[in-house]
Amino acid sequence: MTAPVPKPWIMAIAPYQPGRATGDDGRRVVKLSSNENPLGTSAAAVVAFEAASGSLEHYPDAGATALREAIAAAHGIDAARVVHGTGSDEVLHLIAGAYAGPGDEIIYVRYGFSVYEIAARRVGATPVVAPDRDCATDVDAILSCVNERTRVVFVANPNNPTGTYTRAEEVARLHAALPPSVMLVIDQAYAEYIDAGDDDGAFALAHDQPNMFVTRTFSKIHGLAAERIGWGYGSAAAIDACHRIRAPFNVTSAGQAAAIAALGDTGFVARSREHNRVWRAWFVEQIEALGNAGFRCVPSGANFVLVLIEPRGERTAEAAYKRLLAAGYAVRWLPNQGLPDALRITIGRKEDMRAVVRELRSFAGAD
Ligand SMILES: *Cc1c(COP(=O)(O)O)cnc(C)c1O
Repeated sequence: MTAPVPKPWIMAIAPYQPGRATGDDGRRVVKLSSNENPLGTSAAAVVAFEAASGSLEHYPDAGATALREAIAAAHGIDAARVVHGTGSDEVLHLIAGAYAGPGDEIIYVRYGFSVYEIAARRVGATPVVAPDRDCATDVDAILSCVNERTRVVFVANPNNPTGTYTRAEEVARLHAALPPSVMLVIDQAYAEYIDAGDDDGAFALAHDQPNMFVTRTFSKIHGLAAERIGWGYGSAAAIDACHRIRAPFNVTSAGQAAAIAALGDTGFVARSREHNRVWRAWFVEQIEALGNAGFRCVPSGANFVLVLIEPRGERTAEAAYKRLLAAGYAVRWLPNQGLPDALRITIGRKEDMRAVVRELRSFAGAD
């Protein structure tokens, strides 16, 4: 008798690695490792969340109708073409599952979001990694990976973990050059952080192009990561496919209520964006001042910065990571994503950014 055997493509998955919240000794540390909102959550969202605790015996609205209508109103889109997910992670899995399977290929960029590989492998599809250009998305490199087996292309914009932003012309050029049978997914988890007035054009394309799909999340600027709420916008056919395979009650009642309130709290979103704009600029300037010590920032449009640290003897990104952890700050060191010489650091509270800079300056021998 042999025991049940998981599918080989499942066993090929390296489990997702979450950001750390504790030091090596189990002590709680300041978490700058998961791109969470340092200002917390909208107070209105917390009130709505708590109000939902009076009816825990009921299943949530399976269709999340009020939430989808609030999303549609906020973005000027059709609620019937919005699908909700248990985080946008679920939506990414839905698209992979709807359009790809064994024998098919899913493309994403090297130094792309680590969930894309898991989403591809989970459905038995083959992950195909396009080379980056200086850590940024390279449209030509993606296009050169396309063949008759390609079904889905995932692009995070801004990208995680690099923070790089792909402009509207490049997104349009990528979409225009892809075969119409290939679904282009623009993952806008950090779109609220890009400069006011800027727009990568993905929503406009998704409005009338059946092979364009956009995902968003409430986890980042809205500060609702604990509740796991994301959504996608695409053609009626793509949304229909996603609804067929999503979990029936995939967003909790309290989560739906909190997300609706969060959408309405535009002041909180504006304050969060402004905090990020100011402290990201300050942080980048401070790190760039350590250029002689081999420190460099990848240009970021998101709420984190990828800091590249040229190894010099004992002075490595790993050592910097350990130094920050010992000082009470968890950041992301990314050897498992092919970035052993880089730290991804979330823009946190001002006192935390100051402390991180102090530690890194002293580490670099600048003080
Ligand atoms: C954080 C993140 C997500 C969203 O995660 P959820 O919490 O599942 O909504 C999606 N894509 C990228 C690139 C991210 O960094």
